[in-house]
Amino acid sequence: VAKRLEGKTVLVTGASSGIGRSIAQEFARTSPKDLKIIITARRIDTLKEVAADIKKEVGDGVKVLPVKLDVSNPDEVANLIPSLPAEFKDIDILINNAGLVKGVDQAPDIKAEDINVMFATNVTGLINVTQAVLPIFKKKRNGEDGGRGDIINIGSIAGREGYPGGSIYCATKAAVRTFTDSLRRELIATRIRVIEIDPGQVETEFSVVRFYGDKSKADAVYKGVEPLTPDDIAEVVVFAAGRRENVVIADTLIFPNHQV
Ligand code: NDP
Repeated sequence: VAKRLEGKTVLVTGASSGIGRSIAQEFARTSPKDLKIIITARRIDTLKEVAADIKKEVGDGVKVLPVKLDVSNPDEVANLIPSLPAEFKDIDILINNAGLVKGVDQAPDIKAEDINVMFATNVTGLINVTQAVLPIFKKKRNGEDGGRGDIINIGSIAGREGYPGGSIYCATKAAVRTFTDSLRRELIATRIRVIEIDPGQVETEFSVVRFYGDKSKADAVYKGVEPLTPDDIAEVVVFAAGRRENVVIADTLIFPNHQV
């Protein structure tokens, strides 16, 4: 796997915490010799800490570039690729991980602003970043193969089944699922792999965001259960990216043993 990832450039959205942060770290651990990672999120100071942690863990073989990117802001997304330093522009692997859930209200009571932020981040943001990066992948064509690269979208078990209080979040993740599936089919004649990885319950800042920053409510979610760790997801993401070019691990559901 390390050999296959050597020399690659990886872009991770939502890399300031949780699963995205672990994904960046796991890429660096797996291929510490010659890898470039662009870590993006809204909290640039936290990203700088993530970059320092990665350097500390794996040394200077991995180049890490923290970039402020709000995926729900079309101007920031449009500006992303043009503003990257030349040595980071040639992206090989895109990890669409940025996402969030807001509130636990049932459908009639969900606030309009929460609906908007969930769709703008989880769906439109993911699509916009994909559109920004795809032309780079298409340029990597070799004869008629139509380009190469990996798009790995972090969906959720919530995109496969609903639950009370999760209607909008579930709808956004179902949209990610069908977008990913359609894109995979559109790119079938290329060497661009389109991959979906759907986690079940993972302990991150996700629940803190859901409860508008109320940590005690967030902690209560995990009482009596054993959620996955962000590393559990990151290991699978890096495994999928590290397969032979002709192997597509198209669609994966990962959840803790207790979760049905
Ligand atoms: P975290 O809250 O820990 O991480 C979410 C990341 O997304 C943060 O880095 C956050 O950074 C970033 N983010 C949020 N909004 C934006 C935005 N508008 N633009 C750019 N970045 C943004 O949660 P998780 O690690 O758990 O979530 C990662 C992904 O995993 C999400 O897509 C989530 O839906 C999915 N998931 C999570 C599960 C879980 O149980 N935890 C289960 C299934 C799926 P910042 O605030 O700095 O912008």
